[in-house]
Amino acid sequence: MQPLHEQARVVVGHLVDTRFFTVIVYSRETRRFALTHLAFRRPAAGADVAEAHCGECGRELLVRVRSVADTKRVRGRYLAVALAGAAVAAGAVVFGSLVYLPLADPLGKLVLIAFLAGLPVAGVAGWLWWREDGVRLMSATGDRDREHWRMDAPLPYAARP
Ligand SMILES: [Zn+2]
Repeated sequence: MQPLHEQARVVVGHLVDTRFFTVIVYSRETRRFALTHLAFRRPAAGADVAEAHCGECGRELLVRVRSVADTKRVRGRYLAVALAGAAVAAGAVVFGSLVYLPLADPLGKLVLIAFLAGLPVAGVAGWLWWREDGVRLMSATGDRDREHWRMDAPLPYAARP
């Protein structure tokens, strides 16, 4: 997990080109980005929207930066969801191993669904808890900006309104 500093660092990618390589059923997409490294001071409390400019095209970028306390609160929320998902999955395993539950039974279906749903919830929320840094790249135009991507987020994503 990244430690939360007063200075938040962001890597924004400007999409330079996309190439497709396709052979019958196999297809590979290659995207090339020009990277811009940005740093923002976190606010003392709450969240701020900071402006910056893309190093490649010069367009305005908006970045929402949360304070350290707010980011810890968001991380805590993800952790609570992850632990709840893990507890539901573990509870389903324990309950299912102690009681005979045929799948035709509604309770058996419920325990199976709880097990199957609890694991991905725990995994996704745990991943977000681990990677959340309280910084969001936003679109300055209000539309979805497909050219500018946040590269150092849990998953790369295009700038959102
Ligand atoms: Zn750009």
